[in-house]
Amino acid sequence: MNYVLGYRCTKCNEFYETKKPMLTCPKCGDSGILDIEYDYKIIATVMNRTYFDDNQDYSIWRYLPLLPVEPEFCQDSLKVGWTPLLRSRTLEKKYLTKALYFKDDGQNPTQSLKDRASVIACVKAKELGMQVVACSSTGNAASSLAGNAARLGLKTIIFVPKRAPIGKLSQLLAFGAVVIKVNGDYKAAYNLSKLAIDKYKWYNRNAAINPNLIEGKKTVALEIAEQLNFQPTDWVITSVGDGCTIGGVYKGFYDLLQLGLIKKIPKIMGVQSSGCSPFFDAFHEERDLEETDELTIADSIAVGIPRNPIKGINAVKKSKGTYVQVTDNEIMTSLLELSRNEGIFSEPAAAASFAGYIKAKESGIIKDFETVTVIVTGNGLKDTANVLKVVKEPKLLDDSLEDLIKYLQEEEDVLDE
Ligand SMILES: *Cc1c(COP(=O)(O)O)cnc(C)c1O
Repeated sequence: MNYVLGYRCTKCNEFYETKKPMLTCPKCGDSGILDIEYDYKIIATVMNRTYFDDNQDYSIWRYLPLLPVEPEFCQDSLKVGWTPLLRSRTLEKKYLTKALYFKDDGQNPTQSLKDRASVIACVKAKELGMQVVACSSTGNAASSLAGNAARLGLKTIIFVPKRAPIGKLSQLLAFGAVVIKVNGDYKAAYNLSKLAIDKYKWYNRNAAINPNLIEGKKTVALEIAEQLNFQPTDWVITSVGDGCTIGGVYKGFYDLLQLGLIKKIPKIMGVQSSGCSPFFDAFHEERDLEETDELTIADSIAVGIPRNPIKGINAVKKSKGTYVQVTDNEIMTSLLELSRNEGIFSEPAAAASFAGYIKAKESGIIKDFETVTVIVTGNGLKDTANVLKVVKEPKLLDDSLEDLIKYLQEEEDVLDE
């Protein structure tokens, strides 16, 4: 039993009252991304403050009444969610912010926020009795799908672009996915996956198209709110590729507002790389999204044609937030700063959120008296190659104390850093 009422098209606004699975709006086709609507009146009678006090499940299934799945297969899954929300120890002082938190989603089972969506896809596939799940991905959606599917005994077929980093690729190969490496960018991988999914009728985990997946991603917002005793920060910041994560962040807070558990939705900030910023451009030029290049080292957000434009723009508009863009240099500088000051090692796309925070703080978008949560969407071990380009590699020494003493004297800064 779940509390889904039906699906509303984000484009034409038509409502389809059904519990049966739907992918996109029958009228609008592929661009008619659906949004799942719930019976908040009934959920409110179940999910009140005592519900949370008594609940011992520290995973995304904690929020089961707000998810479009049946409990049956959930208990077999990997433990996704309830990642740490860490208060900054040093950086909030440096950047003069009233309170700064990091939601460390690199601590999910396959080390990225994508696990929140993938586990839902796998559970839905199980419910429908399907054996094969497929997607196209720049990396994390794929590796997380492969891991969650392996746990639940499903087969995965993954379409990756030529450029997928080796950390992510090795992960999904280890999980036993069938990998189709497409000679081209993410767009090419996506298009081929779509043709293949239509032909072979595999379960579709492409995040934008499948409305269930944003419902998984929204649990990051539910957790942030609960971890702050239902008083979320003034701002919540995430990096943006397809627009599903940011759409999910909005949806989570929206749900809590409907249930009367929070008083207002935080301002949501989307961060993009200046080498690939279709959302930033469209938002500030007040026009529809246009295809852009994918020129950024932050591969998880190198998405030239975002598949979820409407939810990605609405999240920011409706929450009165904004979009900012950062350079690849700023991303790498903030990646090191976050690692060195807070002990949180993030991949470039995840560090982009933090870089966006710095930019927004320094340009006055975020005020001194405001509180901020930065979502760290993926772990640094996903992409070590780019980090090694911006750190000094260690010098090779013989195992002699004398040599060591000499080295430390020559390189005085080594111990001071
Ligand atoms: C996928 C991803 C994002 C962006 O999410 P979208 O839903 O594509 O906007 C950000 N960071 C990381 C690490 C990701 O894997």
